[in-house]
Amino acid sequence: MKFVDEYRDQKLARTIAGAIAVEADPRKSYHFMEFCGGHTHAIFRYGVQDLMPDNVHFVHGPGCPVCVLPVSRLDDAVELAERHGVILCTYGDMMRVPGTKQRSLIRAKADGADVRMVYSTLDALKIARENPDRQVVFFAIGFETTTPPTGVAIKVAEAGGLDNFSVFCNHVLTPAAIGHILESPEVRGFGIVKIDGFLGPSHVSSVIGSQPYEFFAEEFQKPVVIAGFEPLDVMQSVLMLIRQVNDGRHEVENEYTRVVTRQGNLKAQALVNEVFELRKSFDWRGLGTVPYSALRIRDVYADFDAEKRFELSVKVSKEVKSCECPSILRGVKKPTDCKLFGTVCTPQNPVGSCMVSSEGACAAYYSYSRFRDRKLADLEAVE
Ligand code: SF4
Repeated sequence: MKFVDEYRDQKLARTIAGAIAVEADPRKSYHFMEFCGGHTHAIFRYGVQDLMPDNVHFVHGPGCPVCVLPVSRLDDAVELAERHGVILCTYGDMMRVPGTKQRSLIRAKADGADVRMVYSTLDALKIARENPDRQVVFFAIGFETTTPPTGVAIKVAEAGGLDNFSVFCNHVLTPAAIGHILESPEVRGFGIVKIDGFLGPSHVSSVIGSQPYEFFAEEFQKPVVIAGFEPLDVMQSVLMLIRQVNDGRHEVENEYTRVVTRQGNLKAQALVNEVFELRKSFDWRGLGTVPYSALRIRDVYADFDAEKRFELSVKVSKEVKSCECPSILRGVKKPTDCKLFGTVCTPQNPVGSCMVSSEGACAAYYSYSRFRDRKLADLEAVE
C-alpha cells in the first residue's frame, strides 16, 4: 500500500475485523494498552472499538505529551512568561492547559505576558533573531519524536551565537514510562489495570527503534506490537497481539515496518545523546515520580538551559481535585468516569489536560461522541 486512504479502506477493515472475531478466543478477554495518544485518537476517530468483539478492550495510556506534563512544570512556564518577562514560545495545545488555579499560558497572554504559539523550533529561533534585546524561551515538551528538533535548535543557537535563546526542557521517555506502569507499586496505588499487551508508539519508535521494548516484553512477559496511526494499522496490530496472547508469546513485533526499524534513527539518537542527558527523576501527571524518565540539557550546553538561566521560584502547584486525569492517564479510569466530563469540562473550557490536546483521551471521547452511547444507556436504565 502506498497511499494513506488505502490504510482506511472499509473492505480491508471488515476483513481484518472478521479475522479478529474468529481468532479472539471467546473464553478469554483481551486488554491492550495503546500507549500513544495518536492511537487513542485513531481508535475514536475511525470507530475501531466498534469493530472489535466484546472481549477485546482498549486501555488508554499516558502517551499524550501535553497531558502528562505536571502542573508544576506548567506553572514554571507561566512564571517565565509573567515574572521574568521573556518571550515564551510554545506549541498551541500547551497554551490552553490549566495550571494551578486554572491559570494557563493563554490567560497569562491575555493579561499581557508575551506568549507566542509556534509550529516548530525554527519559529522560536526566528523570534530570537528578530528580538535581540529580549530573552526568548522555547517551552519544549514531548516524547522522543520532538526531542531531536529541540537538540537541533540548541546547536543552531550555539553556532549562531544566539545568546538570547534558551530552552525550558521537558522531554520525556517512553520505555521508562511503560516500565513504570508495569512495575511501580505507587502507580498501582491508583488501582490495578489489566494489560495483556501494548500497541507500541509509531512516531517515537521511528526514532528509538523497536529494540528498547525488548527488555520489558521479556521481563514482564507482555507482547508489544509497534503500530502505525492509521485505522488498518491499529486493527492489524490488535490481530497480531491476539495471536501472541493465544500462542503464549511475548515478543516485540513491528507492524509499522514502512517507517520503524529495530535500530531506529541512529543520527537522531546521536544528536539527542550529544545535547541531552538523563534526569534522575521526573514527575509525570498520572504516573508520579518516574526514575530516569526524562531528559535535561547537558552542562556543555548549559548556556541554553532556561532552568539554569532563570531562577524559578519554588511553588506549591495544585491539580483540580475532581479532575480524574491522573487515573485516566494510568488507564484505571475512563473519561466518562469523571463527574466533570462534558458538563463543567469541555474542549472549549478544559479543566484538565486530557481535554485539551486532540491526543488526550477526554478530548477524543468528547470530539467523537463515543460517550453518547453510555449516556443513552444510563438514561434507558433510569427509565
Ligand atoms: Fe479532567 Fe476534564 Fe477529563 Fe474530567 S473530563 S478527567 S476534569 S480533563
